[in-house]
Amino acid sequence: MTTYDFDLFVIGAGSGGVRASRMAAGFGARVAVAESSRLGGTCVNLGCVPKKLMVYASTFSAVSEDARGFGWTVPQPTFDWTTLIANKDREIARLNGIYLELLEGAGVRVMEGHARLGDRHTVEVDGTVVTADRILIATGGRPFKSEIPGNELSITSDEIFHLDRQPKRIVIAGGGYIAVEFAGILNGMGSEVTLVYRGPLFLRGFDDDVRSTLADEMRKRGIDLRFETLIDRIERTENGLVATTNHGDVIETDQILSAMGRLPNTAGLGLEEIGVELSDRGAVVVNEQLESSVPGVYALGDCIDRIALTPVALAEGKALAETLFNDNPTVVDYTDVPSAVFSQPPISTVGLTEAQAREQGFDVIVYRSTFRPMVHTLSGRDERTMMKLVVDKPSDRVLGVHMVGADAGEIIQGIAIALKAGATKATFDSTIGIHPTAAEEFVTMRTPVE
Ligand code: NDP
Repeated sequence: MTTYDFDLFVIGAGSGGVRASRMAAGFGARVAVAESSRLGGTCVNLGCVPKKLMVYASTFSAVSEDARGFGWTVPQPTFDWTTLIANKDREIARLNGIYLELLEGAGVRVMEGHARLGDRHTVEVDGTVVTADRILIATGGRPFKSEIPGNELSITSDEIFHLDRQPKRIVIAGGGYIAVEFAGILNGMGSEVTLVYRGPLFLRGFDDDVRSTLADEMRKRGIDLRFETLIDRIERTENGLVATTNHGDVIETDQILSAMGRLPNTAGLGLEEIGVELSDRGAVVVNEQLESSVPGVYALGDCIDRIALTPVALAEGKALAETLFNDNPTVVDYTDVPSAVFSQPPISTVGLTEAQAREQGFDVIVYRSTFRPMVHTLSGRDERTMMKLVVDKPSDRVLGVHMVGADAGEIIQGIAIALKAGATKATFDSTIGIHPTAAEEFVTMRTPVE
């Protein structure tokens, strides 16, 4: 019998790779993980974690105004970008250290460097060749930029976390998660924000009421939303950058953030050379067991381009370790995956949108509530919360739950459990509310939308 150096070799120490490594090692496997950048991957270094810290940072600007109605006089706050970035970097470095401790503590060998497959059992990491019974590709994704003249002058989410200075004016191109999150962050920090999106309304794929509510709220906060608009070219001038749109409008700005989606990070790994099938977008094509077209080579997370969310990669990492090393074949259930967009106000959603439910042939009843959250009755801020339930009429099953408003992610996480458990509208109705909260609205909606 051939003996390999490792039972599992993982390429990429992001959320999914680390979870798979640690769990596999916990089940007794001999595991190594290679990482060419910092431990923790996109989520820890250039995504969820620094982004959420920046969202927090951006919310303090409203405190002086919001507190006034409650009797407080708070001087106009000032914001120092350099302090935030330094503090954020310190926290990320702490997390990098924790990831190393967790991996080493689990007995995983961590190899720094770029890994490349030689064959389905061989990996070379910066000159060191090791063999493994199984190989896991967990290399994540990278930002995509469209091909327009001057696009090298724009930045992506990879760079925005490390800018020396806060851009006082920023144009954000795109209408997905990253675009709306950074629009809110920079607006809260006092930058002048213009968001350009090619379609009629951003956040395609989210429920239409969510999309329109968020657009209204962002405009109220002073964000210039320009739909049906594309940037045609970017030029540098004495005063910064100039973006020219497809309508011929010229926008002067300090930075242009390209937030047009992400592509799987699969180039330069030797995948195609050993016969691993890739999709048109470069994603590793895998089956239910996350195995690629080459037996023994697996992939998960953003590089398989299914649902690019950290908790999904974690679930995939766990499933793979259970299947391969704990004699417990596990398939990830991709239904009713909740998610949140940390826009301001935030969005959160689980299950089907109204449009998806209708497309899938459900006989749908919709419940919707739009109201001013209690805190703003005294703060005076003109902000509305929107909550929506999409219900299947014949079975009474709740198919989708959507919210725009403070703490949406915190609220929908709990509701996602109810959906997984198959909750009906009657279950929601029989649940006693917690008063006074915004969340109680989800159990008190009685009248369907006409
Ligand atoms: P998204 O896929 O969410 O959005 C991409 C946006 O770019 C869409 O509005 C899309 O428009 C637009 N776009 C794509 N190609 C072009 C083009 N050639 N010209 C103009 N516009 C274009 O990507 P993001 O970069 O925002 O985020 C990547 C992924 O990362 C997310 O989908 C999500 O899975 C994950 N993420 C999750 C977060 C969270 O959980 N809170 C936060 C950040 C990222 P159209 O819709 O018309 O195609």
